[in-house]
Amino acid sequence: MTDISRRESVLAFDDRMATVDFRISHTAHITVDSEVCRSCTTRACLVACPAKLFVTTNDGGILFNYEQCFECGTCYAVCNNEGAITWNYPEGGHGVVFRHG
Ligand code: SF4
Ligand code: SF4
Repeated sequence: MTDISRRESVLAFDDRMATVDFRISHTAHITVDSEVCRSCTTRACLVACPAKLFVTTNDGGILFNYEQCFECGTCYAVCNNEGAITWNYPEGGHGVVFRHG
C-alpha cells in the first residue's frame, strides 16, 4: 500500500467512525478468557476484528476491550477455541449506534 492510499484509507476509516456512537454499558457484552487464548494457534481475532479490540500481551495472553465493539460477531465466528469468547448483545439501550447522513 502506498503512503497516499494508506492515508486515504485512514481518512475513510475516520470518516466512517464519525458516523458511529457507542453507548457504553458498565457490563461487558463480550468477555475473553485469556487463559484459553494462550493455547491458540491462529490468533484469528487479532486480524478479524474490524475495531482492533484484541491485543496480545507480553505474557502470551489476550487483552480485550469491549467499549468500541461494532457487534458484528466476527470474533466469535473466527475463534477456534471453545470457551475463549462469551458473546452477547449489550443490554437494551447500550452498544453501537450507526448515524445516517
Ligand atoms: S479469542 Fe479465540 S481466536 Fe482470539 S486468541 Fe483467543 S482463542 Fe484465539
Ligand atoms: S463483535 Fe466485531 S467489533 Fe466486536 S469485538 Fe467481535 S469482531 Fe470486534
